[in-house]
Amino acid sequence: MGATPQQKGITIEFDCQFRVCVVQSSFSSIMKAFLMLLPQLLEDFFQKVLVGFGEHEMAQERKSFACQCCGNDREFIWKTRHGKATIVLTWFRYITLKQLQVQCKACGSKQYITRTLLGMEPRKRITEETRRKLVLMGALTSYRVSEKFGKMFGWAIDKMTIWRSVQRVGAGIDFVLDENEVPRCEADGTGVGITIAKRGKELKVLVQYKKRGGIRVAGIDIGNYNGSWDKLFQKSIEVIKKFKEPFLLLTDGDTSIFESLKGKVTVLVQRCLWHIP
Ligand SMILES: [Zn+2]
Repeated sequence: MGATPQQKGITIEFDCQFRVCVVQSSFSSIMKAFLMLLPQLLEDFFQKVLVGFGEHEMAQERKSFACQCCGNDREFIWKTRHGKATIVLTWFRYITLKQLQVQCKACGSKQYITRTLLGMEPRKRITEETRRKLVLMGALTSYRVSEKFGKMFGWAIDKMTIWRSVQRVGAGIDFVLDENEVPRCEADGTGVGITIAKRGKELKVLVQYKKRGGIRVAGIDIGNYNGSWDKLFQKSIEVIKKFKEPFLLLTDGDTSIFESLKGKVTVLVQRCLWHIP
């Protein structure tokens, strides 16, 4: 199925029939009843859409997936549209899906196509998109509060899931200067103390100006209030050397910042207007 720019999409018939016992007609009773319904509705909807697209794929001469054994991407037969259960995290909660399985006509090997259709990696339960939403929540407030807020609106995502997402995305983020952005930065200790096992230390940040306006974080480190900035600049020294124009660093004059750059690069320094007085 060639990815045309304006894909028409397919129409899914979705009749839902549920039996719910609602005690009163008040707003909150209806909301509560809907929240009871939500998991079932979500699961059914996902399943219907996946089967719909699965059928659509199977009708195409050339599939968007290929046999993992022999590479065949044309000849397949259905094994099942409601096979072994698998768990996926939606924006609201984990849902259980019955996997779609096909068999390769060329070599006979079977494979699940549920995650292929969802655009998810094999065996993964959370999409990158969902994970990033959780991480943003977890980064803006405590994990406990994130969970609490979610619960208020019918979420069933626990704080450990948010915590794990933050750890995972965090581990993949590397702060370094971008040679394609402006060779102009600001560095400062934030004064934000780190209290857990790092008493007496603060968060140090290096931000870089972007060509299109705005700033990006180019370095972050936990260090002593008057301590070394080495770690913050370490990874960026090579990038600083690559800039054709002079590299401008705006600081409050904290001398320890220069220590870590001395002898390595030439830096134009502009004192922060706030700190002059
Ligand atoms: Zn095959």
